[in-house]
Amino acid sequence: MLYDNHGRKINYLRLAVTDRCNLRCFYCMPEEGIKFLKRQELLTYEEMERIVRVFAGLGINKVRITGGEPFVRKGLMGFLWKLQKIEGIDNLHLTTNGTVNTDTIAELKDLGIKSVNLSLDSLDPKRFFDITRRDCFEQVMATFEQLLKHEIPTKINMVVMNQQNTEDILPMIELTKDKNVSVRFLEEMPFNGAGARPQEELWNQAMIYNYLEANYPNLEKLPDPPHSTSKNYKIPGYRGSFGIIASYSRLFCGTCNRIRLTPTGVLKTCLYDGGVFNIKDLLRAGATDAQLTTALLEALGNRAKDGFEAEGKRDNNISESMASIGG
Ligand code: SAM
Ligand code: SF4
Repeated sequence: MLYDNHGRKINYLRLAVTDRCNLRCFYCMPEEGIKFLKRQELLTYEEMERIVRVFAGLGINKVRITGGEPFVRKGLMGFLWKLQKIEGIDNLHLTTNGTVNTDTIAELKDLGIKSVNLSLDSLDPKRFFDITRRDCFEQVMATFEQLLKHEIPTKINMVVMNQQNTEDILPMIELTKDKNVSVRFLEEMPFNGAGARPQEELWNQAMIYNYLEANYPNLEKLPDPPHSTSKNYKIPGYRGSFGIIASYSRLFCGTCNRIRLTPTGVLKTCLYDGGVFNIKDLLRAGATDAQLTTALLEALGNRAKDGFEAEGKRDNNISESMASIGG
């Protein structure tokens, strides 16, 4: 078992396999001028597999594949099959924008994916386009239908943004009426490749909750699973559920069980830190598994207690794109 210096158990790795993406969600990256990584700067699939194997031996049992858009990296499905076979990894999950993988859903089911998070910020094609700057709404909805058809547990991630998509909040709740889906409303974070947005433009978790309660006074609190980042609810009689994620207010750090690996191999022990060390450099310098283990344990021994402390310890301000971290 892995524990950090605050006694929190660590069993969850978020692995970003690429920084590239076919969408340009404005809260994640600028429309133009993005410098994507060169291939040799990325961890190879073999390197990622080795890291996961070593981490699994230490107590990581849950892995989420993310990016960038994971499906724009060639060979992703083959990599997932390899991860699935690693002893100790019994919980493989995926986050995707759902634009390029409609035809992979049956195979995801076969390989035993535990759940898929589908990013969808609007149920209106025009607003979808305005947010993502790409005309891919139909593909995402087709992926959503496939996920439901194959009964893969699915969560929709919707970043709530003032004057962008707040009119989608209630239709998203209505989606849970007859579909077995969990919609999660996320606070926008400043990882947009440019820097902070004015605070008055942000909807925080309290605003989201108050809005929902005003419209659904009968909403019912659900128990939150251990380490859950969301506060979960449902409307009585509806099939699905919904949750609010205080991703910017950072209300869940006390039970955080996750670490992150960026596409370049930087280990992050908090979303808000500036990166702890580069595993790829260690690997390419010939590190043994024991040396990798030592480096990980040392990082966990110095983990910030929450996202505010992690941000405060950075030697630069947050300006990177979420696509270079994985969310
Ligand atoms: N491309 C995939 C996708 O969009 O699902 C995976 C990577 S994306 C970086 C992972 C998650 O981060 C998505 O659900 C996205 O909505 C969320 N995200 C990206 N930038 C964000 C931001 N600035 N604030 C809040 N969430 C953000
Ligand atoms: Fe791409 Fe996901 Fe970022 Fe949107 S949120 S630009 S889909 S990586």
